[in-house]
Amino acid sequence: MKPFDYTRALDAPTAVAMVSERPGAAYLGAGTNLVDHLKLGVATPNLLVDVSGLPFDRIVPRPDGGVRVGAAVSNTDLAVDPIVRAGYPMLSRALLAGASAQLRNVATTGGNLLQRTRCVYFQDVTTACNKREPGTGCSAIDGFHRDLAILGASEHCVATHPSDMAVALAALDASVVVLAVDGERSIPMTDFHRLPGDEPERDTVLAHGDLITAIDLPDLPMAVRSTYRKVRDRASYAFALVSVAAALEVTDGTVSDARIALGGMAHKPWRATRAEQALRGAPATEDSFRQAADAELAAARPLPGNAFKVPLARNTMVAVLRDLAREDWA
Ligand SMILES: Cc1cc2nc3c(=O)[nH]c(=O)nc-3n(C[C@H](O)[C@H](O)[C@H](O)COP(=O)(O)OP(=O)(O)OC[C@H]3O[C@@H](n4cnc5c(N)ncnc54)[C@H](O)[C@@H]3O)c2cc1C
Ligand code: SF4
Repeated sequence: MKPFDYTRALDAPTAVAMVSERPGAAYLGAGTNLVDHLKLGVATPNLLVDVSGLPFDRIVPRPDGGVRVGAAVSNTDLAVDPIVRAGYPMLSRALLAGASAQLRNVATTGGNLLQRTRCVYFQDVTTACNKREPGTGCSAIDGFHRDLAILGASEHCVATHPSDMAVALAALDASVVVLAVDGERSIPMTDFHRLPGDEPERDTVLAHGDLITAIDLPDLPMAVRSTYRKVRDRASYAFALVSVAAALEVTDGTVSDARIALGGMAHKPWRATRAEQALRGAPATEDSFRQAADAELAAARPLPGNAFKVPLARNTMVAVLRDLAREDWA
């Protein structure tokens, strides 16, 4: 491991100033992703500014009816929060589908958003990878890509974003609150992560030194009827092959509103806007759910090793919507 300096931030503006003025500096949350990357040589910062002790560890109702989640709130505390469990069940379920209890107890909300892809080549510094080392090529396209993207990928990278929590946040229209040297701004969750294009090294729209301080959940009554389903190779310690976060509002047998995002499918949580559009005003039937899934998946461009994800995603979307439409759903 390359040596680095370490300091514990005492307040947010000082942390932002320290990281912003040093190109090789990085923030440290609980370290459950970053420390692995230090050991593997994937990340080589010269300074770590530990932000896990900053006073961003609360979940508070906002005056507009939404909820603010501090960036240092642990994944466990967010998953079990009574307001989140009752008002945003898809978020609670997404968090509980991730990692393990021990990891969730320490992993922070801010760090979860910025965890990096689990593409095996990204984590192996002996291989070519445009995301880790721009311009070297993509080993996955002609190699092992079973777990990787079928939507929105590019010739430079077919990685998927690994966070479960982020998929629910995309479906909920959450936003990310960021502090920079020139002040605070709020970024809609659907714009926060990027598609790879010809800059796969950039996962998000953040600039160097930007500190995540909170996530805002909007007031969204329909989210009460929402869920998250994750399909994976084993029940624990496995990232999503496909996941679906969805909320459905049905009035007199007709879909009046729908929010859907997909995980394990793209370089970012994939908001299924085509499926949502197809559903609004349609009868809440299995036929409509299948047509909506097909509308979204028409854009899929799978590789030979991950074509199975197209029917898997279709079937998972239909099953989730069918469950949410049941009158006795809970
Ligand atoms: C074995 C294993 C299995 C896992 N399984 C899953 C899974 O199934 N689903 C899932 O979603 N996740 C899974 N994870 C990932 C886990 O959820 C993340 O590692 C964790 O959420 C990252 O949080 P952290 O606080 O430890 O971040 P860190 O590792 O400390 O940081 C991650 C990144 O975020 C940056 N950062 C941290 N805080 C901030 C901030 N406030 N502002 C700006 N930048 C910041 C760091 O610089 C770093 O780049 C797994 C992890 C492991 C080790
Ligand atoms: S898919 Fe992306 S992360 Fe994986 S090897 Fe290709 S460039 Fe690297």
